[in-house]
Amino acid sequence: MKQSSRPAGNFRGADMPDVIVAGGGLAGMAASAALADAGCRVTLLEARGYLGGRASSFPLGPAGTAAEAIDNCQHILLGCCVNLLDFYRRVGVEDRIRFYREFNFLEPGGRRSTFAAGALPAPLHLAGSFARLPFLTGRAKLAILRALAAVRREYGRRQDLDRITMLDWLKEKAQPPDAVSRFWRPVLISAANAELDVMAARHGLQVFRLAFLGGGSSHEMGVPLVPLSELYSRLDQGRGGRLDIRLHSPVESIRVEGGAVSAVSVAGERLRAGCYVSALPFGRLAALAPDLQLDVSAFRHSPITGIHLWFDRPVTDLPHAALLDRTIQWMFNKAGGRYVHLVVSASHSLVAMGQAEIVSLARRELAEFFPPAGAALLLKARVVKEVRATFAPVPGLESLRPGPVAALKNLFLAGDWTRTGWPSTMEGAVRSGYAAAEAVSEAAGSRRAFLAADLA
Ligand SMILES: Cc1cc2nc3c(=O)[nH]c(=O)nc-3n(C[C@H](O)[C@H](O)[C@H](O)COP(=O)(O)OP(=O)(O)OC[C@H]3O[C@@H](n4cnc5c(N)ncnc54)[C@H](O)[C@@H]3O)c2cc1C
Repeated sequence: MKQSSRPAGNFRGADMPDVIVAGGGLAGMAASAALADAGCRVTLLEARGYLGGRASSFPLGPAGTAAEAIDNCQHILLGCCVNLLDFYRRVGVEDRIRFYREFNFLEPGGRRSTFAAGALPAPLHLAGSFARLPFLTGRAKLAILRALAAVRREYGRRQDLDRITMLDWLKEKAQPPDAVSRFWRPVLISAANAELDVMAARHGLQVFRLAFLGGGSSHEMGVPLVPLSELYSRLDQGRGGRLDIRLHSPVESIRVEGGAVSAVSVAGERLRAGCYVSALPFGRLAALAPDLQLDVSAFRHSPITGIHLWFDRPVTDLPHAALLDRTIQWMFNKAGGRYVHLVVSASHSLVAMGQAEIVSLARRELAEFFPPAGAALLLKARVVKEVRATFAPVPGLESLRPGPVAALKNLFLAGDWTRTGWPSTMEGAVRSGYAAAEAVSEAAGSRRAFLAADLA
């Protein structure tokens, strides 16, 4: 085995160590950027030929052609995703995110309700618009308001929220069926990628507490204006040459000696550093580092299906909409209403279906919300099923998620699956990367703060 020509890193006292980061998803990129900015020399190893992991885009045409790039799936963020926004600022792409103040809810038949902040201060900023939503009955609205008051009282205080499901909590709060199916479920299934009877109540309450009951802009929805992979194209710029990104570089083994990582192997080359950050998926890390004795048996995957449809004419002029009472849950208008992207979270019912069947279902349902789609000619369609899109944030999981400090003394853990307090999201991934970077700096005797404080 060849030895790396890169000098072995070590750290003494307040020296910032050389760091190897494995995994170029958002967690690994966030850790790498933060550590490079803090003065570390960082080598980021990514198995694939591009950065971004589960939040990335790919060319639609054959490799090597100048084809249109599409996201594996529409990724959205909310104003309360303070660490993700910090990361976008750090890599100079914050102006590539467009924030929307209005949410559209559509019923089959096309009736539209708009949810937007009014003139009142938070937490009453959404109250006027909520009171006018036509798709909810008066009884449902009163029940929801009572439950939202309970969210404010209980989030962060009640001890059993990680032991019960969100559906248990909604039953306890006597939520009528239409409040559950038309309000709580549409918001939460896309935020946590799990059904209400699967997700822990803490994550359901968290979404409402931070996004909708938090500061004035925390509920606004951010949508990238460019394909996801473009957001990472400046990652190594402006970091004084301290960040070396190596694509097509899968870590094949993690060598452990004396309770610490001594090297990682990539394509026959042994790379060494003072500290190592794993930003690998949980299953991959458990297989590569058996010495960690990671028990990942409690993690289950949850699927998301994205359906891209290109029509011969515009089928909508709305930028996006939540679609009620059907299989498809969200519509994003990608190009003048001719190209729409539909998203189904927790898409278990679609996993076994073929592409043609999914496209036909999506077209049928789309025409119920947007009648022009019924008459339009479908030019092209692409279905992207991500069966391992996220982990399911089930009750009891939070306490089993490991923190950034691992059992090996110079190894630190990141990844959306580590203990961030967040479900599997871009914000959770960036938080984990920043937390790992903080732990590295602390181990080096020069603690830096990278995590941003919540707005609420
Ligand atoms: C379809 C879909 C839709 C989603 N929608 C949203 C959304 O709207 N909003 C939101 O906030 N979140 C969303 N998410 C979740 C979000 O994408 C993830 O939580 C986040 O991207 C995870 O980042 P990560 O860095 O923790 O993991 P990953 O992105 O999985 O990164 C791990 C990286 O490690 C690399 N790797 C694996 N093995 C090796 C190895 N041996 N050596 C080196 N590298 C290796 C992988 O290639 C990958 O790049 C969505 C996810 C999916 C799949």
